Amino acid sequence: MYDIIIIGAGPAGLTAGIYAGRQGSKTLILEKNIAGGKGLEVPLMENYPGYEKIQGQELIQKIKKQATKLVELKELEEVIKIKKENMKFTVETKKDTYTTRTIILATGTRHRRLKIPGEKEFLGRGVSYCATCDGPLYKGKEILVIGGGNSAVQEAIFLKQIGCKPSIVHRRDELRAQKYLQDRAKKLKIPIIWNTTLKEIKGKGKVQKAVLENRKTGQTETIKVDGIFIAIGEEPINKLAQDLGVKLDKAGYIITDKQQRTSVEGVYAAGDITGGLNQWITACAEGAIAATSAQRDTQ
Ligand code: NAP
Repeated sequence: MYDIIIIGAGPAGLTAGIYAGRQGSKTLILEKNIAGGKGLEVPLMENYPGYEKIQGQELIQKIKKQATKLVELKELEEVIKIKKENMKFTVETKKDTYTTRTIILATGTRHRRLKIPGEKEFLGRGVSYCATCDGPLYKGKEILVIGGGNSAVQEAIFLKQIGCKPSIVHRRDELRAQKYLQDRAKKLKIPIIWNTTLKEIKGKGKVQKAVLENRKTGQTETIKVDGIFIAIGEEPINKLAQDLGVKLDKAGYIITDKQQRTSVEGVYAAGDITGGLNQWITACAEGAIAATSAQRDTQ
């Protein structure tokens, strides 16, 4: 029997592991993919204390190394069911079953889909949700980056810097992204197509054209493109939380108190799954608090 099972090995889950291990809790981290979560996709971070500049992948490797010296991490092991009986949880994965006294949900978010014709069809053949992963395939090519938030602008900057030709397509006439990113995009002369939405993606076997609609005039235009990077926000991965009866907010994020306790005794949550600022620093902080609370509450 574990003291703590952490579900999800992004910055929040791994940090929870570091704290859990150091406090002596018998802990297992379960991750359905490889450790890192969306953190692996961050091209460059400039707001994590102690590092003026660091890539998401590099920081994840450091945190993972630190965590796995202290606790067990099983990657490529997806949790499919959690059952609560009295003060014990049974966690079922596709490979095994484990029991634990407490759970930390650090399941994060997934990329929101546009839900337009061609998006699913051309996924991996011109449509991508991750510039760090797929950008290098598009050097010298015309790309549209859809969205106006930090992710879209950051991805466009990264794509430009590696030699792609990105344009941002945004549905409004001002960006949501932080000013320093906007300034950098301006300096790099990244074109922005304002008040415009992507209506359809077309091609033969791969992305070749994008149908754009101007929201002010209603006019549509079909342009030639080689790639489309979609960065229109995130959705919580909350199925396990829902199954456990954990209280969620209107947008589907887990509601916690200041100690990262959820509405279900013995279940804690940390990181992007709790909504809020969606930053590494807050995810790590929540992971630390969740692990500490899980131990204190069950002493
Ligand atoms: P976000 O901040 O929610 O922005 C999503 C963008 O996509 C918005 O500009 C939104 O337009 C647009 N959008 C949403 N649905 C759309 C649709 N159906 N069609 C067209 N456009 C649509 O999401 P994000 O940029 O992925 O960022 C997620 C979180 O991670 C944020 O909290 C962000 O601050 C954080 N993050 C931080 C950094 C950093 O600190 N450097 C980097 C990346 C991400 P509207 O503006 O019109 O709503």
